[in-house]
Order: sequence, then C-alpha cells, then structure tokens
Amino acid sequence: MLERKIILQDREMPKKWFNPNPYLAKLKTPFLPPMDPATSKPLDPAALEQIFAKELVAQDGNMTDKMINIPEEVLKIYSLWRPTPMYRAGRLEEKLGTKSKIYYKYEGVSAAGSHKPNTAVPQAYYNARQGIKHLTTETGAGQWGSALAYSCQYFDIECKVFMVRCSYELKPYRRLLMQTWGAECIPSPSPATRYGKAIYDSDPNHPGALGIAISEAVEIAAERADTNYTLGSVLNHVLLHQTVIGEEVKLQLKKEGIEPDILIGCCGGGSNLGGLILPFLPEKMDGKKIQMIAAEPAACPTLTKGEYLWDFGDGAHYTPLIKMYTLGNQFVPAPVHAGGLRYHGASPIISQLHKEGILDAVAFQQKEVFEAALTFARTEGFVPALESAHAIKAAMEEAKKADAEGKVKTIVFGLSGHGHFDMESYQKYFEGKIEDYEMPDKAIKENLAGLEKRELVM
Ligand SMILES: *Cc1c(COP(=O)(O)O)cnc(C)c1O
Repeated sequence: MLERKIILQDREMPKKWFNPNPYLAKLKTPFLPPMDPATSKPLDPAALEQIFAKELVAQDGNMTDKMINIPEEVLKIYSLWRPTPMYRAGRLEEKLGTKSKIYYKYEGVSAAGSHKPNTAVPQAYYNARQGIKHLTTETGAGQWGSALAYSCQYFDIECKVFMVRCSYELKPYRRLLMQTWGAECIPSPSPATRYGKAIYDSDPNHPGALGIAISEAVEIAAERADTNYTLGSVLNHVLLHQTVIGEEVKLQLKKEGIEPDILIGCCGGGSNLGGLILPFLPEKMDGKKIQMIAAEPAACPTLTKGEYLWDFGDGAHYTPLIKMYTLGNQFVPAPVHAGGLRYHGASPIISQLHKEGILDAVAFQQKEVFEAALTFARTEGFVPALESAHAIKAAMEEAKKADAEGKVKTIVFGLSGHGHFDMESYQKYFEGKIEDYEMPDKAIKENLAGLEKRELVM
C-alpha cells in the first residue's frame, strides 16, 4: 500500500507565520491597500482600528517582516491539534489508476473541524490583549462562527454571532456548536441592531443574507469601545495566520524528500488556499516550477469569470473598497451546498497572484464535486467538507491530465475541513436532488456594469 501518514513532532511546529507582503510588493501587479470610498485615497488605518484589533491592522500593512512570531499563548493552543497530519492518498491514486502521487494536508482535526481556528485563535488573542471584552461576527453556514466561538473561550471574551436566518433554521447543529462553546448566536436580520431591526420589523421571517449579517455585526462593534469585529477570510491578517498550514507542509515534504509540482486549494475568500501556497511563493518567484491552482464552484466563479476591480466587501457598502476579483457586490450566488465558497469577491492577495499569472483557477459543477467527495470518502475514509471537495476534484483532474500527457506529477492539496455537519447535503445527493448551477456570463456582466470605476489616489 502506498498510503502513508506524514507527521511532525510537537517540537517541530513552526513558530512563525510567513508574511507574503514584502514579496507581493515586488510583483508587476501592484500590492494595494484598501481604498476609502469617500476620497479614493488609501484608507486611514485608524478607521479600521475602530472595529479591528490594532495588531491585526498592523499585520495587514506590514511590508517589512518576512516572518512574524506566533505569540506563545497562541502556540500553546495551536499545539492542541497542530501540527496537523499530511497523507499520501495511496488508495485514491489506486482507484484513479494514476501514476502521479497525491498528498493532502488535513485541517479537519481542529475542534471546530476546519482550518478556521488557525486565525480565530490569534484574532481572539490580539483583541483580548488590547482589553476587548466582546467580539462580533457574521456566519453563513456556521463554520467561521463556530471557530470564533471556540477561540473566544480561551480568552474570556464574549462572542456574538449573527447567523443568516435561513441557515440558522436549516443548520441547527452549527448553531448548537456555537452555543456549546458559550457564544450567543442570533438569527439575522435581528431586532438587536438598528440596521437589522428595520428589516426585521418589515418582515420577521426575512431569510437574511451575509451582507445584512455583516452590517449588524459591524454596527455593534463600531458603537461600543469594548467590542470589536472579526472576519474569517479575505483580509491579509487572516491569510498570514493560515500560513502555518503551508509552513508545516514544507517541513513535511522535506522530511520525505518530496518536491511538489502542483499545489491546490479550494477558494471562497481565499484563506486556506493562501495559507497553503504562500510559503512557496519565494521559490516560485525565484523560478522554481510549482503550479498553484484555486478550485471554485461554477455557481460562484469569482476568479475564473469575475473581473479585477475595486469593489465593496459587502452589499450594504459598509466596508472599504478592495481591489479584487469580483462578481459584483450585489451578486447573489445560487444556493450551492459548499456555503463557504459563496462569496462575490476574493482576498486581495489571492486576486493579485491570479492577475499576475502566478495562481491558476478552475471551476467545477456541484454534481461532479459531490462525486469526487464520495470517491475520496470511499478510498481515503475522511468525509470531506463540500468546500474541500472542490480541491479533491481539482487534484483528481490534474492527475488525469498528467497521465494523458505521460507525465508523473506530485500533487498536494488542502483538505480544509471535515463534512460531519454537511450530512444533510450528502443526503440530498443520495436522493438525487442535487442540481448544477452555472452563472450565466450575461448576469455577471450586468452585475459588474453596476460598479463605479475607480482609481486609487495616492
Ligand atoms: C470557510 C471554509 C472554506 C472557504 O474559506 P477560505 O477562506 O476560502 O478558505 C473552505 N473550506 C472550509 C472547510 C471552510 O470552513
């Protein structure tokens, strides 16, 4: 049998995050800060510090340190589940009949079941150190909300999560997980905020939307001095914290004497993908041949069909403008089951890499992703989150392609989480109720036509 588990000892755990910013500043495509919509100038970091921890804002714009120390308290908590295992997918290879070698890094071993605690823990830590007593956030499917709820307990922070009402009702287990970890989970729109109350009063059964939930969480954080807001993807500091994944992968590959040809991650906001690939960026910029691939849903094809523009992070336009690949902030994705990949934009770092031609992107239909998830579960055993299954599908396709070309490739993909809370979606698949959705090009064009064209004024 080819399958194999590659582990690191506790003492081998990386003690630093990889900061990509100094490298990104050297690319032809410029590395850009967020824009103030009122002035078209770079946003004053002081504005962000009203709702985000100071240290996190500093990390976003840190252009000098190539590595950043992981605080001791964070390392202690990381060590509860890190270093995470990496596997050779021998049984999957056999099933595919491929000559290529497939490896995956498994982030489903955290208490919350995904990579998200890698950033939730340091975000809670930096906020607590600054005297913050309450954190707010929004959650769609509930993965980020549960990761933050889990992390806040370690630092005596009260956690308030606005969960899109339709998910709150359809996915009780994620909500109960947040409650188990002591967080307050509120269906949004809610009467708890001015923005939410206006919508709630006109329709108490409003199904909610991520944009509304963001607005509610931000409103509370902006009004109270002891309260901050957190985000589980997209922002530079989130990707920075996730680089612990790629730093471990580098050590694991080195241990086995393996040189990767292809690195793959699924991409919603881009944090697990960034965490995996960014530590390999210096080698790639030095001319080493490593292909990097983002896998996304055809129903929300941000990188494959979106455009690289200044756009808001939310539908209510509370956020600054970000230069990113986007489908337009009014884009409403089809209700595909990979909830964590349904975002209209993508991290500015991931977007810059794609624009520069360093990162490729592929999109898959929902049914083929489910099929890949089942093939994986029936060979490797782990039941993947449907988000992660996009990376599995991409890895399978790359192996097939290599065989057709008579090549042997070493493929490494990120298995960002387990699917134990996705079983309802699996049930729908077994019942034949899963449909493919493809975003029509015309609808994307219309959405993007609504965006005001901007240039950054330095
Ligand atoms: C949230 C989530 C994602 C998508 O978020 P990224 O920021 O793109 O990583 C992917 N996989 C899992 C398991 C998630 O929970």
